Amino acid sequence: MPTRPSWSVFSPTWTCWPICASWLATWRRAELAASRPLTARRSGQHSLPVPENRKTRPLVVVLATLVFWSVAAGSAVADAAPRYRLLLQITVDQLRGDVADTFRNVPERGGFAWLKRHGIHYASAHYTHLNNATAVGHASLATGAWPSTHGIVGNEWYDRGLGHTVYNSEDPSAPVFGDPDKGRSPRMLRVPTLTDAIAAAGHQRGHYYSISLKDRGAIFVAGRSGKALWYETGGHRFTSSTFYFAALPGWLSDLPLPFRLTPLERYTAKADIWLHHAVQALLDRVPFGASGVTDVLHVSYSALDYVGHRTGALSRDYLATVAQLDNLLRDLLRRVDRIVGLDRTLVVLSADHGAPPAVDELKKQGKPAGVWPQPVDTWLRDQLDERYGAASAARFVTAVVMPFVYLDDGAISRSGRSRTSVENELVRQISGLDGVFRVRAPGRLCVSEPADPIDRAVCRNFDAERSGDLTIVLERGWQVLYGSKARIMRANHGSVWPYDSHVPLFVATGRGQAQRVERPVDVVAVVPTVAELLGVKPPSGAVHAQLPEVRNLRRMPVATSP
Ligand SMILES: [Zn+2]
Repeated sequence: MPTRPSWSVFSPTWTCWPICASWLATWRRAELAASRPLTARRSGQHSLPVPENRKTRPLVVVLATLVFWSVAAGSAVADAAPRYRLLLQITVDQLRGDVADTFRNVPERGGFAWLKRHGIHYASAHYTHLNNATAVGHASLATGAWPSTHGIVGNEWYDRGLGHTVYNSEDPSAPVFGDPDKGRSPRMLRVPTLTDAIAAAGHQRGHYYSISLKDRGAIFVAGRSGKALWYETGGHRFTSSTFYFAALPGWLSDLPLPFRLTPLERYTAKADIWLHHAVQALLDRVPFGASGVTDVLHVSYSALDYVGHRTGALSRDYLATVAQLDNLLRDLLRRVDRIVGLDRTLVVLSADHGAPPAVDELKKQGKPAGVWPQPVDTWLRDQLDERYGAASAARFVTAVVMPFVYLDDGAISRSGRSRTSVENELVRQISGLDGVFRVRAPGRLCVSEPADPIDRAVCRNFDAERSGDLTIVLERGWQVLYGSKARIMRANHGSVWPYDSHVPLFVATGRGQAQRVERPVDVVAVVPTVAELLGVKPPSGAVHAQLPEVRNLRRMPVATSP
């Protein structure tokens, strides 16, 4: 491991106190001598008395200087010797919570084995919001808040003001390098992230990066203080937006990716090799661990999500992708160990959501399953018209962006009916369709937190401005599949059921010891927990109680230098 200059070596505490103390002693002796009447030193000579203020001012100045140095040194030491030099946050898109256990027998040298040996494994970590989608999960992991607080209620939602569907991280004022018709930033996020909190505590002196194949996989964890990098399909390179950089760094725009993939191959495990290649380049370029404050590197691996959609969770391809990931994680951990030291790195691994097996596979196994095809908007209206004929309430629907139904206020007022009666009628009609478990009107349901866990999940996903007037909860096994991508989509997540909500959660460090926690925990609790471990104030949305087991990590000794 390379030797790095440690702030503590140059700490003003150690340099100032001996020097300043001897300076003070010398000065004080001189001052006392000077303040004695000259007559006492040179008999017979008259001297004027030294004015009182002139006698005391130098002492006050020196004492004030010492106090300043002392305070400055104290804060410098606090900043200069962070317990962890790096927060390595790893998110695996669509990694189910039970897969970490499937990998109980992986080689001892793999990434998951390291996490199990060196950290706390929360074996029953769940999201408690309804819409288990990529943007929602990443935003929750980033902020420690539910969508009702952070505002990212889906990968997309209908914007009532704009009159069309919007993407979670779109921002026309922040063009993407290489694709300026697109704009991307975290402006839709309503609260700060853990990265923002760490950057604030470090006075922005550290390095804060978040990288993924997907823009939404990188943007939310980066928050407003970090830099988000993601893969740009058109340019076959990693890119960012003007929100993060005035111009794309040369090393990034020139970074060669090792191979090209056909559009279909992009939805295979190979895509993660691109990402890993870019992560290696990032580790070579950015001096993580050397800033004197806690740095952040977030890597979100996306290929498993592509494979999961194509073949279903727990398929042979899905598990092969996890095996590849295990190797990539091992390599990432080794590199971080060489550069920063895993003893001084806090590693957090989780996922944005889980996933179900393919619909056809579930049916083959005789398990409940079904499909709502995309585009759901027209499909749902057609279903209502077909089933209820002239009595169909579809005319009151403005848009359907699952799991939300948005009502047409104009149509309601023209009908002369009350909004509540229209809502109730739509709830009744949609509830009669195949695959519907429950339909709720969250504006009324969520006035106080419901006792029922699924209703609670509806409310934790409710943002009055962005969520629909109605929320649809599909039956277990029922999935919304894209008709236009039917060839490559056999499974989809986004439900409230455990196969989608259950994700792995590891909190580990080089000197950590294995601990397995079976108690169910809410994934968002990891954010205030990590903030506490790093000694930073949690981001404002992270109001969940901390995970107490992590105190064991805090008690473990860490090396004084990497
Ligand atoms: Zn997905």
